[in-house]
Amino acid sequence: MYEITILNGLVDQTLNALPGLSDDHKQRLKKQMHETDWKPDSEVDCALRELFGSAMNTYEMAIKKIVRILGDLIGDPTVRISKEETDESKMYVKLEAFYASRKNHTSTTTVKERFQFWRKDEKRASKLKQLEKWNKKLERLLEKHTTTPKQTTTVVKLPPGWHKSIEQIRFLGQILHSSLTASWSCDCSIRHEARFCLKSIDRLIVRTDLAEGDFDFLIQTDAGAKGQQWQEGIILVKPTSSTLSQQQRELLTRICDAAKGIPREFCFNMLVEDVQGTPRSWKLRARKKRLCLAHEKPSLSLEDLLNASSALPLTFKRGLALTVAWSLLGLKEDTWLQEGWNKRSISFFHASDQKLDYERPFLSTCFETQPTTLPGTMLSCHSNPRILELGILLIEIHTGRTIESYRTEGDLSDGQANAFTDYVVADRVARSLNDCSLDYREAVEACLDTPWVPKDQDADLSDPRVREGIYTDVIKKLENEYEYLFREKW
Ligand SMILES: [Zn+2]
Repeated sequence: MYEITILNGLVDQTLNALPGLSDDHKQRLKKQMHETDWKPDSEVDCALRELFGSAMNTYEMAIKKIVRILGDLIGDPTVRISKEETDESKMYVKLEAFYASRKNHTSTTTVKERFQFWRKDEKRASKLKQLEKWNKKLERLLEKHTTTPKQTTTVVKLPPGWHKSIEQIRFLGQILHSSLTASWSCDCSIRHEARFCLKSIDRLIVRTDLAEGDFDFLIQTDAGAKGQQWQEGIILVKPTSSTLSQQQRELLTRICDAAKGIPREFCFNMLVEDVQGTPRSWKLRARKKRLCLAHEKPSLSLEDLLNASSALPLTFKRGLALTVAWSLLGLKEDTWLQEGWNKRSISFFHASDQKLDYERPFLSTCFETQPTTLPGTMLSCHSNPRILELGILLIEIHTGRTIESYRTEGDLSDGQANAFTDYVVADRVARSLNDCSLDYREAVEACLDTPWVPKDQDADLSDPRVREGIYTDVIKKLENEYEYLFREKW
């Protein structure tokens, strides 16, 4: 059904690009599409001819082929197109009738059943392959003939208070990072590692009234003879000092003290405040566990998942793409992302039913060292290595392959990868991403090209132009695609 969704998007795109048609007229056409009430419309014919010019014949041929394939796929002769039906309005009627039947709940089952009828048939696979081929042709044709330049022209209205909420979450994150860095050193025999739930970050970042934030996280502690164990915790971060009594809180100087003596069913509970520029950590009363993860099986990194041969579910891939994109806006590069924004720092635990909890990706981090230079900053040929890494993550999540697996001998110098290697490889792979929607590919390309600042400037995430660019050209496109694919908002 993925190719059908792509096609759906292409038809919408064509409609939006039709020249000389008023917005009202386009809205009317969209409404008619939903109501299977498309009438021959000479203005649409003219607009299509104007849009495609001498390529009109190619366009007509592509649409005819697609309609035939759809007819074959659902085994419905009424969707097929006969030889004498060469008028493009009639073709549209059929195509849109097909969409309308998909959108209309009463006939969804019928269409689904028809698809299932073909499910075991090799013909179905071959028809879908053909549909993919013609979708690509149509997409290329549209790309060539739509005059809308890429990026910057997409007018996306920012939600009210959006910049303020990004500032606020970055500020809360900064307080949290400073306080944990101050309480991280201890005399335990192990190095404590922390994993932060990225859902805590993207859940908070979309709120415009954000004043304080609570974060789900885990730390690895020494469990004596049992080895090491993960302990769940919640941290509430406040930008001001609170008025809790001494009985309600205990000042914390070492992170592991927060997790000591907590019963199995409970998680530790912390408060971090900013007292006139000085972050302070408190241990609060333990709370009932919120995440309830199972730790019998080890956690898996995104890299582990990519290296495993099993295919990743599409819902997981698209949800994760959005989470990693949102998180980049909420996490400061020089603290949270100082070790990079990549597949090794993203991991998953198992839920209580022992299945991998795909819904909740975690960011792995330690608060021990503060490198003075971000990895890749000095030598990178990209204007912001963390944004480049986001682009690479999007490629890896979509293709289910590591970027390293795309390297050729020519990408290496003396057999070794250098600072330019992944950028060059990502650029090449992005331009040949043909099995995803235009929206997804443009989101990847925007991360690689960062068109929001002049070429000689760094694309700093503290720059509102860059944040807006990430929102408009990456997040919004991923959200659009998500909506098309799953018929629901992310
Ligand atoms: Zn310790």
